[in-house]
Amino acid sequence: MPTTKEKSLCRIEQLCADAGLRMTGQRRIIARVLSDAVDHPDVEEVHRRVAIIDARVSLSTVYRTLRLLEGNGILERHDFGRGRGRYEEANRGHHDHLIDIESGAVIEFKSEEIEALQERIARELGFTLVGHRLDLYGVPLPRKRKQT
Ligand SMILES: [Zn+2]
Repeated sequence: MPTTKEKSLCRIEQLCADAGLRMTGQRRIIARVLSDAVDHPDVEEVHRRVAIIDARVSLSTVYRTLRLLEGNGILERHDFGRGRGRYEEANRGHHDHLIDIESGAVIEFKSEEIEALQERIARELGFTLVGHRLDLYGVPLPRKRKQT
C-alpha cells in the first residue's frame, strides 16, 4: 500500500498549513476527521471519531484544536440550540440549516428566494449584505397513516 501521508494533505491540513499553524500528529488526525465529516459534529462526536484512530487524543485536545481552527477561520461553529457548538468546514459554500428538534438532525439547504429577499431587506435598510446566518427549527410532518 503506498503511503502518501506527507504528500497528500487533507483539505483542512492544507488550510492549517496556509494559516501557519504548527501541525502535531494529533492535530493532523483531528484535521482528517474534520475533512471527512459530511455532517456538523460537536466536540464529543469529533473526539469519538478521533479516538477510533488514536485513543490517546484527549477531549480537551480536540476542544482546543477546534477552537484554534475556528479562530483561524478554518472551521465555522454553529449553535443549533442544544447548548453545544457544532462544527463544519468554513469554506464549504454558503448554505442555511434546518434543524429537526426531535432527532437533532441538521439538513442543509439554499434558497435563491431567501437569498434575494435578505439582500432586498438589507438594501431597503441602507446596507449592502455581506453575510447572514439562517437556522430553521422544525419537527417532521406526520406521515400518512396506513389504511387498515
Ligand atoms: Zn452546514
